[in-house]
Amino acid sequence: MQESPESLYLIKVGEIALKGENRSFFEAKLRQNIRRKLRGAAGGVSITGGNGRFLLRAPRGAEDEVRQVLSTTFGITSYSATLRTEKQIDEISRAARELAASLEPSLLAESFKVEARRSDKSFPLNSYQLASALGRLLLDEFPSLRVDVHGPRWILNVEIREKAFLYIDRGEGPGGLPVGCAGRGMLLLSGGIDSPVAGYLMAKRGLHLDAVYFHTYPYTSEQAEEKVKTLVGLLAPYLGGVNLLVVPFTPCQMRIRERAPAEETTLLMRACMMRIAEILAARRRAGSLVTGEALSQVASQTPESIRFTGSVTNLPVFRPLIGLDKEEIIAMARRIGTFETSILPYDDCCALFAPKHPLIRPDFERMRDSFRRLEAESLLLEAAEKAERSFYAAGS
Ligand code: ATP
Ligand code: MG
Repeated sequence: MQESPESLYLIKVGEIALKGENRSFFEAKLRQNIRRKLRGAAGGVSITGGNGRFLLRAPRGAEDEVRQVLSTTFGITSYSATLRTEKQIDEISRAARELAASLEPSLLAESFKVEARRSDKSFPLNSYQLASALGRLLLDEFPSLRVDVHGPRWILNVEIREKAFLYIDRGEGPGGLPVGCAGRGMLLLSGGIDSPVAGYLMAKRGLHLDAVYFHTYPYTSEQAEEKVKTLVGLLAPYLGGVNLLVVPFTPCQMRIRERAPAEETTLLMRACMMRIAEILAARRRAGSLVTGEALSQVASQTPESIRFTGSVTNLPVFRPLIGLDKEEIIAMARRIGTFETSILPYDDCCALFAPKHPLIRPDFERMRDSFRRLEAESLLLEAAEKAERSFYAAGS
């Protein structure tokens, strides 16, 4: 086989493959997202294919970067470094030997099996014959190997398509749909455990997110802001790059404190955040808001509270954690790598200004009156105006 300066990866997708007429739209998004994230790879990459499978060509030496990108790109379910050969048995055999020889030596004393598939039925061997032939070949070449068809330690995959593709390696992608296929959204990101997970989940359904953080300096420290920035950096690979908007929220907070009874402060604060997020969303052409709310988790997340806080915006508000337990959210936060940062002990403004006895089942009309009495619209517009934007790239 020709030694090539490139590595090839076979990429498999999940839900995209189930799409009907508009599948090509999702496929084009995925190709675009991968290309964009690998823009920095020296020598450049190319990606071709569709129908559930893509072929990525990347320069040798970029393996770590490619793996990092493919394992964080929504739409991908798995990927494999692959060898491609002509559909001739001697070429295929040579590639099979080469792949096995490149394994960690200890794996050559373990169990394996060969899985063959052919979509090209004109290939002279059927799948079973091809798998047996390659299995025998590897047993001859590496006598410490043994076959186990039920629970093998590793699998040599062979696919006979327009060419022959062979791979052993299998990396997991995060699943979901390509970022951007559902348009843009605005994530309300605090420094807590929940909202980073909410952002991850909505990006997984195809939203291209910006994040907004409401900063109540000096009541919340610079460290609180740093923590949010760290979280944005951790999410950026999944979100395909993200703009963070930091909104100076102290004047709004003060207005609430002056004009509203203590038990209403948390709800009014949330409503102000929603409204500012909506103003920013309009500027960023985002068509939805995302929060980390979960039903009944705290007083501001009861059905009555959510009705009010959501009523100040006309945009749909996505709350992907609404039906999850805290334990389930924590498990996800650990998996995506945000948990350790989220639990760093910096006060958030909600905790600082939280009343001792918040309303649990607020009266809708009374809250709408209180919100009107704040006469805060120009304050909210000004806060949005003063938002500071910074961009976090998806790549390292
Ligand atoms: P989180 O863990 O995300 O902070 P939480 O369980 O602490 O959530 P709350 O503090 O009540 O819940 O906040 C509910 C939601 O409101 C958050 O998930 C987030 O989307 C939004 N939010 C709260 N505080 C802020 C803030 N300072 N900046 C941006 N969004 C915020
Ligand atoms: Mg919080």
